[in-house]
Amino acid sequence: MLVLDLNNLCAMDTEGIVIRIKTPAGDMDSAVDCPSLLNFNDLLVAIRDVMPEATVTAFEYEDEVGDRITVRSDEELKAMLSYYYNTMNEQRMNGLLPDPLQIFPRAGKTPGNRNIHGLKVNTRPNPANDCTQAVSESMANNSLKKSSAELKRILTNGQISAQDINYQEQLGHGNGGTVYKAYHVLGKRVLAVKVIPLDITVELQKQIMSELEILYKCDSPYIITFFSAFFVENRISICTEFMDGGSLDVYKRIPEHVLGRIAVAVVKGLTYLWSLKILHRDVKPSNMLVNTRGQVKLCDFGVSTQLVNSIAKTYVGTNAYMAPERISGEQYGIHADVWSVGISFMELALGMFPYPQIQKNQGSLMPLQLLQCIVDEDPPVFPVGQFSEKFVHFITQCMRRQPKERPAPNNLMEHSFITQFNDGNARVVSMWVCRCLEERRAQQGL
Ligand code: ATP
Ligand code: MG
Repeated sequence: MLVLDLNNLCAMDTEGIVIRIKTPAGDMDSAVDCPSLLNFNDLLVAIRDVMPEATVTAFEYEDEVGDRITVRSDEELKAMLSYYYNTMNEQRMNGLLPDPLQIFPRAGKTPGNRNIHGLKVNTRPNPANDCTQAVSESMANNSLKKSSAELKRILTNGQISAQDINYQEQLGHGNGGTVYKAYHVLGKRVLAVKVIPLDITVELQKQIMSELEILYKCDSPYIITFFSAFFVENRISICTEFMDGGSLDVYKRIPEHVLGRIAVAVVKGLTYLWSLKILHRDVKPSNMLVNTRGQVKLCDFGVSTQLVNSIAKTYVGTNAYMAPERISGEQYGIHADVWSVGISFMELALGMFPYPQIQKNQGSLMPLQLLQCIVDEDPPVFPVGQFSEKFVHFITQCMRRQPKERPAPNNLMEHSFITQFNDGNARVVSMWVCRCLEERRAQQGL
């Protein structure tokens, strides 16, 4: 057995080590430049970030005979580092390259409400240039904070950078951006990356980045998981969870029992955003995503005013799913999102945009004059006898011309159309998505 020598810790100041976190999904190797700055809590936070689905309260390492030793405190961490340092020296003396320090997280059961984000938002417009500045700023303020932030960055692959992304295929193109399916090599996960060209100043880039930080806090099964965002030259890339069923705009005519389950998820997602004082502002079928597991998630909500403004400067037109009060340029609030829910679900049920005089060819942006009928005319009505009373009532309420007459968040959740499908049955959506994807493949002869 090796004798622990805590004096070895001094030597660690000058020498970095590699920590290998053994996770069920594979090994995560991370270089730690200053092991002496490491403390137990920081390492735990970093482990939790790479294993977001588990509750990790401690970790273990193996001694030279393979016995597992638990680490639960700073003292035990120091002992582990000292042991490792001795092993490293021995391996070196024997002419071997030192093995990484292997640690085995001790995971408990999944708590339903853990933050699901495995990655941190990069709030720096140019990571390469600003990295040192960010570190030295925080060091001046608080060295502990610095060690925590730096460690997190190192251990969690906290930033996704352009060179670590393998672009696979284009998923779609909207007003302002192109979305790609991509593989993040370090994080070993499939992403959807939205790339938006923006000719704006570095100041505005910084503002957008800080506005996007709220996405890191969003944690709902009905909201797309945000992983990271970064600028490269004049393009912002926004990396999110990939949804293998894509967006609802390509499905058309969705049967009511499926649409009901989708509506439950959309209402829950919006209720969550509203609880964070975020208006979605762009509710429409192409911003509702589904996957083969039957999950339904909202994306592209307007958290960054600056980003929305910058895109709007390049792309002219008015969104056809906007509530009448928005089309007429009046003040709007939650009720405007509720209108958009109504018109979106009406389209999804009918398989066509509910105002026959408005033909959406590509995308949802239209000349303002064409949308004037939404302001002037009574909302569209369903053909008789094709849909349930509850569904028709739900849509009619959401599409009341007077914003205040539309259901408030609570009333939406309590509406009988929503409550009847609020049974957590993801299989219905899952089977429907799988069937539609199969049909699509068959049509394409794949
Ligand atoms: P707009 O730009 O007005 O929001 P849009 O929603 O159609 O229009 P994008 O947001 O650029 O345009 O998305 C383009 C397409 O990419 C979507 O219609 C959708 O099919 C696909 N897509 C977007 N995000 C994802 C994702 N996370 N997973 C899978 N597919 C996605
Ligand atoms: Mg979109």
